[in-house]
Amino acid sequence: MAIEQRWGSFCVSFAKSIIGRASIEKRCHNTPMAKLYFYYSSMNAGKSTALLQSSYNYRERGMNTMVLAPMLDDRYGTGKVTSRIGIETDASVFTRDDNLFELTEKKCNDEPLHCVLIDEAQFLTRDQVFQLSDVTDKMNIPVLAYGLRTDFQGEPFEGSKYLLAWSDNLKELKAICHCGSKATMVLRLDGEGKAVTEGSQVEIGGNDRYISTCRKHFKEAYLASA
Ligand SMILES: [Zn+2]
Repeated sequence: MAIEQRWGSFCVSFAKSIIGRASIEKRCHNTPMAKLYFYYSSMNAGKSTALLQSSYNYRERGMNTMVLAPMLDDRYGTGKVTSRIGIETDASVFTRDDNLFELTEKKCNDEPLHCVLIDEAQFLTRDQVFQLSDVTDKMNIPVLAYGLRTDFQGEPFEGSKYLLAWSDNLKELKAICHCGSKATMVLRLDGEGKAVTEGSQVEIGGNDRYISTCRKHFKEAYLASA
């Protein structure tokens, strides 16, 4: 074999070994630089659908995911994340008192874990967002949190506030206001369709009482009722 041919075949096998190694490292959960992601939006932007798609993408490649959902959201029954377009998956339910780092660690004892996904992440406590950052930093597992940015009064939820502050990556999922602009706010409506300005931040059920609007139309409706 001529020297050029031998050099050529060496280059090909070297390139193959590099590519092979990279794809193995990609599949391994403890690759460097796992990140905490926050996918935020107003309502009806497809957050749960996006979560289910991401979880599916991992599982399709033979990787394990853990889907977490807060206990207080019982719209679709406990232990499930359901999207409006009709797909769903089982979820591990947690309360405000659960330590999500310990919960993840426990799950890792059963099987290797490649991604943690959180539905309704606005309901996380400050401590739980910190624990999720530890899942990323200490266990090197990516965490994908999906939640609302603000409540019906335009105030940030506790979980969203700290996810916006501490996440490595922020990604906005877009919903559309009736005017065609991006809907960044959420209005709670009363029986007559007027904006509610008082009440507790979390109300279980009654999902049809909320609409997503742009900031301009949020202010118009909110100030008309205040
Ligand atoms: Zn609008």
